[in-house]
Amino acid sequence: MYVKSLELKNYRNYESLSLEFKNGTNILYGDNAQGKTNALESIYMCCTSKSHRGNKDKEVIKFGEEEGHIKLIIMKEEVPYRIDMHLKSYKNKGVAVNGIPLKKLTELFGVGNVVFFSPEDLSIIKNGPAERRKFIDSELCQSDKVYAYNLSSYLKVLMQKNKLLKDLKYSRDNSLYETLDIWDLQLSEYGSKIIERRSLFINDINEIIYDIHKSITGGIEDLKVKYEPNIKGNNLYEELVKNREKDILYKTTSVGPHRDDISFYVGNMDLRKYGSQGQQRTAALSLKLSEIEFVKKVIKDVPILLLDDVLSELDSKRQKQLLNSIKDVQTIITCTGLDEFIENRFNIDNIYKISDGKVVESNNF
Ligand code: ATP
Ligand code: MG
Repeated sequence: MYVKSLELKNYRNYESLSLEFKNGTNILYGDNAQGKTNALESIYMCCTSKSHRGNKDKEVIKFGEEEGHIKLIIMKEEVPYRIDMHLKSYKNKGVAVNGIPLKKLTELFGVGNVVFFSPEDLSIIKNGPAERRKFIDSELCQSDKVYAYNLSSYLKVLMQKNKLLKDLKYSRDNSLYETLDIWDLQLSEYGSKIIERRSLFINDINEIIYDIHKSITGGIEDLKVKYEPNIKGNNLYEELVKNREKDILYKTTSVGPHRDDISFYVGNMDLRKYGSQGQQRTAALSLKLSEIEFVKKVIKDVPILLLDDVLSELDSKRQKQLLNSIKDVQTIITCTGLDEFIENRFNIDNIYKISDGKVVESNNF
């Protein structure tokens, strides 16, 4: 699949924008703070329903405006799919696919598949476990509706239970205490399914990443990814009950998949703890490339790759490896200059220069 066109109205710093893309390498370049990432964000939003930055919907509407629009046309086997997203400051957004309004936002998943790659992704191994869980969740939510449902249900129940734990800390009301069991039963129902699905996902990634990383490191490193569920046994309910008193004391749920992690091993060495900075970043690059391969396997098509200012973060060897391994995928790349492309003679199909929310130059090759 590939993005054919994007139109924005009152989106972030764009009053109005219209871009056509090629099924190849597309570049948006320009100085800082001109709107490059905003354009990628709007594509990501149309495919996943949310901003990759975690902003509220209202915040992406142009300052001072009440409504914003995104229109994205995606081609799948030469059939066009039009996604219209209508953002409103006073109520929830509306989304339509090919003119038909969606009843639920989850119906949007799978219309367009994107992989978003930003410089922060290169720190995923060095950063805390929350970033690594976000990696699993954003991937699985896009590709598996059941997982998306289980995760959002789990997080809702967890929030309610944690609120109850706070109340219990200050008043040990018996009837309140008994309701804890109901929350724990629900947590274990959704949580067990999340753990099971995450484990399968990491197995899949593990199979893919080995060869990719081997090739990126010139045959030197054998990389393994391991899922580290927070609970050691397989009975989440029992663990939740065992930790109840402690959880009331600390006013939070101490066990469950909201505390899961993934580890990265080269031989017996845990890269999170002992990897050099370069090793960690290279493994992160392998992980991102594995994500693309994983999506390909699931959707039996190629996803759209959004590369937000990531090339300038990589040395020229890694840049080559990245661009060589995504030749069959449409990429939309943002950058501040074109030097890397010219020096390395990377193929470019389409360039837009963006300045202050407008296209000031365009070139099709
Ligand atoms: P960099 O190269 O620094 O990453 P960029 O071109 O990617 O820059 P963006 O993040 O796309 O920049 O755009 C940032 C600009 O968008 C900021 O200057 C900000 O003021 C503006 N902006 C953000 N949200 C809104 C909004 N809701 N309305 C109007 N302008 C906004
Ligand atoms: Mg940017």
